[in-house]
Amino acid sequence: MTLALTDVVLTYPDGDRTLTALDHVSLTVAPGEFAAVVGPSGSGKSSLLAVAATLITPSEGTVSVAGQDVSRAGQAARTRVRRDHIGIVFQQANLLPSLTALDQLLVMAHLAGESPRTASSRARELLLAVDLGGKEHKRPHQLSGGERQRVNIARALMNSPAVLLVDEPTSALDHRRGEQIVSLLADLTQKNDLATVMVTHDLATLAMVDTVLSMSDGRLSEGAATQVA
Ligand code: ADP
Ligand code: MG
Repeated sequence: MTLALTDVVLTYPDGDRTLTALDHVSLTVAPGEFAAVVGPSGSGKSSLLAVAATLITPSEGTVSVAGQDVSRAGQAARTRVRRDHIGIVFQQANLLPSLTALDQLLVMAHLAGESPRTASSRARELLLAVDLGGKEHKRPHQLSGGERQRVNIARALMNSPAVLLVDEPTSALDHRRGEQIVSLLADLTQKNDLATVMVTHDLATLAMVDTVLSMSDGRLSEGAATQVA
């Protein structure tokens, strides 16, 4: 499995008590599998992604990314795994306002120490793959919300990740553009053999994913629960 969480418990300090955000969560996602996580606000969806992204170390349980157990790894090893194997797409595109679409992607490669030439051809390829071939020199304010989210997705793929983690990618978009983004994610998941986990509120898009999981009070179960907010 490309991504495997086993019996993960995550607690946050909450005054003199603790809050259990993830309660014995297990999850496996195979290459080419598109999994969606639905569930009410506060149920632990973003916490799940943060643990899978190696940004937070769980209190209990194991996390394995691309065959490496990262749950007990140190900061440097986790950063390396994240840089080499994980793509992250947050809800807001968080693009740098002064940079063109192409440069948003090149910054990532520069940080990773890649050669500018390799990076540039890869960045152009990715912008084509997200249907922004003609817009590589546009800055964020010259792009629509959906286009910005596509730049965001292309940027997350710059390191050729094995795992793609996406938190509510459609929340700032209208319904039609939201569907286009999810359809794009499904397509990229297949073509790049990604293990993709997407948190979403948008039940209409669940027809496009392989696996639906529901989060409720920190517990994860298969299928769409009847009540999702
Ligand atoms: P969701 O993404 O489903 O809305 P979250 O994972 O953001 O849920 O939050 C799950 C629970 O953990 C909530 O009760 C939230 O208030 C709490 N929580 C999230 N992040 C933190 C944090 N950094 N410190 C303390 N509590 C947090
Ligand atoms: Mg959230």
